[in-house]
Amino acid sequence: MYDIIIVGAGPAGLTSAIYACRAKKNVLVLEANTYGGQIVNTSDIENYPVEEHISGFDFATKLYNQTKNLGAEIKFEKVVEIKDGSFKEVITTKDSYKCKAIILATGAENRRLNIVEEADYIGRGISYCATCDGNFYKGKDVAVIGSGKTALEDAIYLSGICNTVYLIHKESELDGDENVLSLIKEKNNINIIHNSSVTKLIADDVLIGIEIKSKDGLKIIDVDGVFVAIGRVPENENFRKIINLNEKGYIISAENCHTNISGIFAAGDNRVKSLRQLVTATNDGAIAAVEAIKYINKEWRDKNV
Ligand SMILES: Cc1cc2nc3c(=O)[nH]c(=O)nc-3n(C[C@H](O)[C@H](O)[C@H](O)COP(=O)(O)OP(=O)(O)OC[C@H]3O[C@@H](n4cnc5c(N)ncnc54)[C@H](O)[C@@H]3O)c2cc1C
Repeated sequence: MYDIIIVGAGPAGLTSAIYACRAKKNVLVLEANTYGGQIVNTSDIENYPVEEHISGFDFATKLYNQTKNLGAEIKFEKVVEIKDGSFKEVITTKDSYKCKAIILATGAENRRLNIVEEADYIGRGISYCATCDGNFYKGKDVAVIGSGKTALEDAIYLSGICNTVYLIHKESELDGDENVLSLIKEKNNINIIHNSSVTKLIADDVLIGIEIKSKDGLKIIDVDGVFVAIGRVPENENFRKIINLNEKGYIISAENCHTNISGIFAAGDNRVKSLRQLVTATNDGAIAAVEAIKYINKEWRDKNV
């Protein structure tokens, strides 16, 4: 039996593994895809303390090697179910494993536009994170796609960095917080385009424009960057049977990363929180591991030893 099973080898999960291994716990990390999580998709990280510039792949590889060197076992298997009981059980597509505590660090996926070549231009014009990548488009023209809170906030944030920000959305009017809407109207470099959707990316090695469709037909807009802000999908559906999720599917957990089930913790982008970044994911990873260690040493021991 493992002490702790961590689901997800992204920044949150691997940080949990570092803390748990250093506390001499016996750790298994289960990952559905490749190690590193979302961050492997970015070519340059500039906002993680100490590292002024590092590629997402190098960041993930350093973190993965650090975790392996500390003795964590990492298996590439997708978790399909978790069960609570005197011990906990984690079921994957290949096997099932028993443990004392579970940390769910499954992250969230950005909803895609679903247009041809979108994946090919991630990091070369397509971004899903204005806070992460906005600075790479200083003085340039960009588009924000979406009409939700994130899209509006991204447009305001980018208007302070970029030359022109096209805010493109499908509705006939923007809907949202009055303060945010009036801030958008005050910005004379935000150009709102209603009733429109992106139909094609125009690229010449890097992105140089987009084709958009409205009831008036097709139109080309020259932009260097497109920030897609049409929502995120947390990867928690496999746990819904026993873990409390909010209406958007995020795990409801307090700052101490506890879920509604004792001995099961949540860390990173998959839980309800206000900022989803590397620093907040690694922060959660550390907290969840320390809480899992406390749980094993006290609550689990009192019940089982
Ligand atoms: C293109 C891009 C650029 C970014 N740039 C920056 C940046 O510059 N700075 C910054 O601070 N943040 C950046 N971010 C955000 C940052 O990557 C995330 O906040 C961070 O990766 C969240 O870490 P996480 O471990 O919570 O989740 P994730 O990184 O999403 O990792 C979760 C892992 O869990 C795995 N998983 C999911 N479900 C299962 C399952 N059922 N079984 C097993 N494994 C599972 C996934 O495959 C994944 O590997 C960027 C994000 C993107 C997409």
